Parts: sequence; structure tokens; C-alpha cells
Amino acid sequence: MNTKNMGFNTICTHHGEIKDEQFKGAISPIYMSTSYAFEGVDVKRYPRYFNTPNQEALSKKIAKLEKGESSLIFGSGMAAISTTLFAFLQKGDHIVLQRTLYGGTANLINEEFKKHGIEFSYVDAQTPEGFKQKIQPNTKVIYIETPSNPLLTIIDIKSIADLAKENNIVTIIDNTFASPVNQNPILFGIDIVIHSATKYLGGHSDILAGAVISSEKNIDQIFQVAKNFGGSLSDFTVWMLERSIKTLGIRVQRQNKNALKLAKWLKKHEDIARVYYPGLKSHPDHEIAKKQMTGYGGMLSFELKEGIDASKFQKELKLIKSSMSLAGVESTILSPTLTSHALLTEEERNLQGIKDGLLRLSVGIEEKEDLMQDIQQAIEKVKVPELEH
Ligand SMILES: *Cc1c(COP(=O)(O)O)cnc(C)c1O
Repeated sequence: MNTKNMGFNTICTHHGEIKDEQFKGAISPIYMSTSYAFEGVDVKRYPRYFNTPNQEALSKKIAKLEKGESSLIFGSGMAAISTTLFAFLQKGDHIVLQRTLYGGTANLINEEFKKHGIEFSYVDAQTPEGFKQKIQPNTKVIYIETPSNPLLTIIDIKSIADLAKENNIVTIIDNTFASPVNQNPILFGIDIVIHSATKYLGGHSDILAGAVISSEKNIDQIFQVAKNFGGSLSDFTVWMLERSIKTLGIRVQRQNKNALKLAKWLKKHEDIARVYYPGLKSHPDHEIAKKQMTGYGGMLSFELKEGIDASKFQKELKLIKSSMSLAGVESTILSPTLTSHALLTEEERNLQGIKDGLLRLSVGIEEKEDLMQDIQQAIEKVKVPELEH
């Protein structure tokens, strides 16, 4: 199928698909072989070489969705992140990272990099100036994540890419929260885009996977390390992921809509103290978000008014599930203090602006009225009745 001039949802549905020549089936056949006859001297197909028929087919689709030349699919988001970082950093090198990172990425840096003699600096100010100040002569990589977890702060992607280019530094972005539906960082000059495909690309809370998208040249450099680290994805899950991505566009567009509606409703709600959503005009980074995002995503955070206990509120929710992960078709909620950011000290959390009563909501595709009603009934159960006079 030639999808050259076709739009996003057509690429999601068709690009890269394997034609079933034998039976003319509607979907890509699945090839589970771990052993393939030599086709020629150069092609050695093997799952850990990221080149089985299903791996290659899906890589094409994912690369196209992110406007990159090539991509690799990994066994998890962390496999994609760790492999990519070690492909561009070695002993004596330095990396600049934003402070508010996905917890697993922060653990990787804090626990592994010292052992390998790789230096790192975190940036607290989310501005290009803040990043510039941390650059050293041995800085090789700048790593960002926008929108960030859990406060949905936005970093100006193009400014960071420009800054890095001036200094001959490779840029990497974790684009998981935005998904390729809402943000294509390569268009703003970012070198390498990473996804935890466990989230929006998978979208049904039943796949663990990761992906890296970049130029042919960068992907080859990552591949040289990837084949040694062995983090490829099984072909069955590759095939599941292809199936999931067919609906990526319509799922995320719906999640964008639901989240925007919910954010506006929560903002006006008398029992809600604060809402964090880049699609709200009141969000401090709304103007930057507008420049670089085509939709504002399905993630939002909020704080309940004082006197409404966040843990009790969470327990009273019936439709919205408490869950560690995010981005499924079902809405889920978590307390960053008790889960994703529990390993940080209270001081570190305060530094990032994460209050104990903060709740992070991953908005699903349900009817927005049902989600609002669920939140409303939980608030009413937990709210301490005002004293009658
Ligand atoms: C979940 C997540 C990851 C890690 O992905 P896994 O698939 O769990 O390994 C990385 N970055 C972000 C933003 C995530 O949400």
C-alpha cells in the first residue's frame, strides 16, 4: 500500500502492513520464526537483530507516524531509553536532563550512570536558558520530556533543539505523554524520539513495549548497541502493537476531547483547588503548548480543595480505576506522592511542585458525562459536611 500522501489515520491503519499473498487476509500475517534461511550474505534475520518481517513492518509505520526515517521497536520503554542513552554516551561524557523525568528514567540515571562514569546535570528551570547554563565542554546529549509527569509542564522543543545544534549536542525527547498524534518533535529539530509504547501506542493496558525513531544514521548507531543489550520485542507483541496502532489516531483524538472538557469542568468546580492541563488558557505554558502541539493530550492533574482527603476520594471512585499506568482506553487515576514519586523525599517533591493531595488522571475514551458523574459522587461522599447554623 502506497500511503505516501495519505493522512495520519490512514498511516495508522495501513502503512507498513505485510500483504497476505497466500490467503489474502485483511491483516498482516504473524511470523514467529526465530530462525530464517540465509537469503544472501548480508541479511541475517533474527528477532534480536530487530529485523523479522513483523518487526520491520511495524518499524516503518512507527517511523512514518513520527516523521522520522527509521525506527526500532523494543521490549519496553525503558529498554528503548537505556539502549539509546548508552548508544550516545560513554565514560567521561556528560548529559543535561530536565528535572521532572519519568521515574524509571530518573532511576536509570541516578543508579547506573555513576557506575559507568557518565556525568549528568538536572535542569530545574524549564527554560532554554536553564538548559544552556548546564552545558559543559563534554556535554553530548540533552534529554527532555514534554508534557512532563505529573504537572504537565511544557518545554519549548524548538528552542532546545536550536540550542543543542549550536553546541553539536544530540537531542532526545520522551514523547510518550503527547503521542505522535499531538506532537512530532522531529519537525522542530529534535534528533531522537522515544516512546513507551506501553502507553498510547498500545493503548489497551495489555502490552509492554518501546520505540525509538530517528534518522537512518542515528538508528544504526542505536542498533549497534541494541543487538548487544538484547532488548527487542517478541513478534507476537509486535503484531499486537500493530493492531493497537490502527486505532491510535481516533483513540487519542477522543482522549484529547475528553480531557479538555474535564479540565474545564474541574477548573470551575467549587471543590477543586487547581487543575494542570496544557490545553487550559490558565496553564502557564499554554502558549508554548499551542505552538508545538496539535492536541493537548489525555493527561491532566488536579488538587482537591483543602478538607477533601485525596486518598479517600480515590477509593470512592467507581468508574475511574486507581492504577499505576496510564494511557489506556479506560480512565485511571493515581496519587504521585504515593506511587510514581514515592521514592522522592518530600523536599524533592516540593521542589517539583508536587503536593501530597495531587491526583493524576489519565483520561480514557468513556463518555465524559459518566467520568464527571463519577468524580462528583466521590467528592460528595468524602466532603466533610459544612456545619449547620
Ligand atoms: C511508562 C513510561 C516510560 C517507561 O516505559 P515502560 O514501557 O514502562 O518501560 C518512560 N517514559 C514515560 C513518560 C512513561 O510514561
